[in-house]
Amino acid sequence: MSDEHYVRSATFIKSAVYPADYPETEGHPEIAVAGRSNVGKSSLINKLVGRRRLAKVSSTPGRTQLLNFFDVDGTFVLCDLPGYGYAKVPAHIKRNWGKMVETYLSTRSELRALLLLMDVRRTPGEWEKQLVGWSSMHGYTLIPVVTKVDKLGSSKRKPAIAKVARGLGLGPKQVIGWSAVSGQGLDVLWRRIDRLTGQEEMDGRSDSPA
Ligand code: GDP
Repeated sequence: MSDEHYVRSATFIKSAVYPADYPETEGHPEIAVAGRSNVGKSSLINKLVGRRRLAKVSSTPGRTQLLNFFDVDGTFVLCDLPGYGYAKVPAHIKRNWGKMVETYLSTRSELRALLLLMDVRRTPGEWEKQLVGWSSMHGYTLIPVVTKVDKLGSSKRKPAIAKVARGLGLGPKQVIGWSAVSGQGLDVLWRRIDRLTGQEEMDGRSDSPA
């Protein structure tokens, strides 16, 4: 099944910092994507919506520290949160970043889910744990994704994924093992998204087992 099967159109809406600048999206459900720099966020977005240019928009100079909103098929909105953890970013920018993301995650009423990306070879840090806490506090679904599982041999994958899950206080089945290289996790991720955006009954995407 090709990636294109899933998404017919994905377009950049706008960038924003403050709530007054967030786009008007007619109440379409929104899914935010967060992760440390280099976790594989651009690769995941590219694979998910099958549009290389989209993630490129977020990495355009001037947009890397902003919230970038995209419309996907006119059915849901994707908000790409700026990558966290650039060592070279000055402290005051990090503070502003934290405030911008916290404000978005605590006030955006359209938000249905947070896709939280973590590298399979890293231990989740305070920041990731905080995002898990905010998700339950603000009442949207957390979709934890463990990236780059292809970097480990097949016997090491399951225990490594379980370790990341434990680090977040979650069970191993709650997290999705993902590889942008092999496409592992793509179907499961789409099923979770479809369930949240009310698409699963419309086009039969949920037919195959999890
Ligand atoms: P971002 O900074 O989070 O947007 O990360 P990118 O998507 O730009 O990926 C950072 C690096 O990791 C790039 O060299 C990617 O090719 C690589 N990468 C991303 N996802 C995967 C994956 O699933 N498997 C492997 N092996 N490499 C990946």
